[in-house]
Amino acid sequence: MRNGDPAASVISRLAWQHRTFTVLELHRLAYYPVRAQVAELGAQAAVRAIARVAGAYANRRATKKRAHIFRQHGAIPYDARLMSWNRDARAVSLWTPTGRVTVPYAGRPNDLKVVDTLPLGEADLIYRRGVWLLQVTVTLPKSRTREPINGFMGVDQGVANLAVTNDGAVLPGPALPGPIQGNGHVRTLRERRHRQRQRLQKKGTSAARRVLRRLSGREHRLMTDLNHQLSKLVVREAERTGRGIALKDLQGIRGRARAHRLQRRTLHSWAFAQMIEFTRYKAARAGIAFILVDPAYTSQACPQCGCTTKANRPARGRFLCTRCGLAGHADHIAARNIAARGAAGWAAVNQPHATGLPSARRDRESKPPASTGW
Ligand SMILES: [Zn+2]
Repeated sequence: MRNGDPAASVISRLAWQHRTFTVLELHRLAYYPVRAQVAELGAQAAVRAIARVAGAYANRRATKKRAHIFRQHGAIPYDARLMSWNRDARAVSLWTPTGRVTVPYAGRPNDLKVVDTLPLGEADLIYRRGVWLLQVTVTLPKSRTREPINGFMGVDQGVANLAVTNDGAVLPGPALPGPIQGNGHVRTLRERRHRQRQRLQKKGTSAARRVLRRLSGREHRLMTDLNHQLSKLVVREAERTGRGIALKDLQGIRGRARAHRLQRRTLHSWAFAQMIEFTRYKAARAGIAFILVDPAYTSQACPQCGCTTKANRPARGRFLCTRCGLAGHADHIAARNIAARGAAGWAAVNQPHATGLPSARRDRESKPPASTGW
C-alpha cells in the first residue's frame, strides 16, 4: 500500500496559509488544488484527506504555532466505513487513497481469539520496523463482580517463590493445589541472567552492550509471560472454588524492606506490579472479587492465634508461632494472612454502614478491622 499521505500534507499547508480550518471552507479552498497537485487522487480520497486535516486542526488549533505535519508513517485511523472484516478468512479490507486492499492478518493466538469472537471497533493502522500493524479496539462483555461465596484466596508474591497461595500451592506449579516447594527453575533462570548481565557490564564493550540490550528484552518477555501464567492460574482457581482474590498492596514495600541485595533487586522490579495488574483485569473480566491488602507483618503474624512477632520466624522461609506452636512455610502462612485480610477488607467496604468506612474504595481498601489483632 502507499506510504504517507501527500494529499493531507498539501491541504494542511493550504489550511495554514489561509487560516482556514473548517471542513466546508477547506473543501472550497483545497479540493481542486489538491487534486491537481497529487497524481491519481480520486474525489473520494480528496474529501477524506480534507476531513482528516480539519480534524487534526480542530483538536490542536489553539496551540498550533505552525502547519500540522502529517508524518510519513503516522497512525492512520480506521472506522467501520473504511474497513471491513472477513473473520472467517482472517482478512481485512482497508480503504487506501488508491483504492481498497484486502490483506490477510496474523497475530498471537489469544489476540486472534479475541478478534474472532468479540465486537470490533475502530482501529489504527501503524507502520513499525517494516511491519504494518492494525491496532483494533474490542468491546469486552461486561461481567458483574460476584460476591465471593467461599471467602478469599490469598497469594503471597515473593522472591524465593514467585507466588504461593493460602492453599499451599506454589505457582506456576505443575498442578493446583500442590505441595510447597522451591520454585527452582524460575529462580535459577533469573540468577543466571543476572550473573551474565554483570559479566557483560564489566566488559563494557559495544558488543557487550548490544548483548545486554537483547537480554533485557528477553528477560522482560520472560517475566511478562510468567505473570500472564501466574495471574491466569490464580483467577482460574478462584473461579473454580468460588472465592475472591487478595494480593499484597506493594506500595510502600520498597521503603520498608531491609532486604539483602538479591531481594532488593527483585522488589525494585516492575514484575510484582505487573502481576497485580494482570490479576486485577483478569479477575474483573471473570467477575471475580479482587482486593489489595496491607502487607505489613503478613509474614510475622500467626493466622491461628494472632501473635505477631519477629520471633515467629526462626529461619528464612520457616514460620513457627512462639505462642501457639503453629508451624509452616513462611510464604504459605503469609498467604493465609493475606486471604484473611482480603475477606475482612471486603466485608468492611461492602457493609459501609456497619463499619463506618463509607469512603473506602473497594479494590484499594487494605486495613483489617482493629479487632482481629494484627
Ligand atoms: Zn499462633
